Amino acid sequence: MTRKSVLGEVREVQLAIQLIQLGARLQFLESEVGLSRERLIRLYKEIKGVSPPKGLLPFSTDWYMTWLANIHSSMFYNMYQFMKIHSDEEKVWILIKSYKLYLQQIAAQDSEPILDFTRAYTMVRFFDSDMLQLSTCCRCSGQFVAHAHDHKSGYVCVLCRPPSRAGKARGAKRGADGEAGALGIEGMGFGVEAAPGGAGLH
Ligand SMILES: [Zn+2]
Repeated sequence: MTRKSVLGEVREVQLAIQLIQLGARLQFLESEVGLSRERLIRLYKEIKGVSPPKGLLPFSTDWYMTWLANIHSSMFYNMYQFMKIHSDEEKVWILIKSYKLYLQQIAAQDSEPILDFTRAYTMVRFFDSDMLQLSTCCRCSGQFVAHAHDHKSGYVCVLCRPPSRAGKARGAKRGADGEAGALGIEGMGFGVEAAPGGAGLH
């Protein structure tokens, strides 16, 4: 086993702390952080006060297609992509920063985050392994998470064509547009130019 520098180890611990605070699972920590499983579990317990949950990571791409999940997922992935293009940091830090940005945006709208950290990084992996793609809505030009290899031409997003039950589930009159408006998503425009100016970037 190679001996790590003290500073290198401090960086790994800082990375682990960030990830644990954001809700990362042990499996993810083990794959991204250069610390032993034992130390990761100890850190996890110290920070969260409980043992890391067991169980498998979510696996289906379908979750990202449901109405509200698709809005949140698309918002996050647009931010992530922007950061990836404009930052030369390690991928895991880009993930952390874009996820924090997503949480900030949601908090600013007094909404609840729908996309948890595990879903967020699982989605990034789905994109990397070519299971998901961004499709451009032919009506609003926003970019939305879609199944890979779906037809890209003529795609209409969940905001421009919300399912009828999206409104009903949340009670009278406050339909899909109301919810989207409440989230401030229309104003965000989903475009790269809409990403907050250099937040968290160097
Ligand atoms: Zn649209």
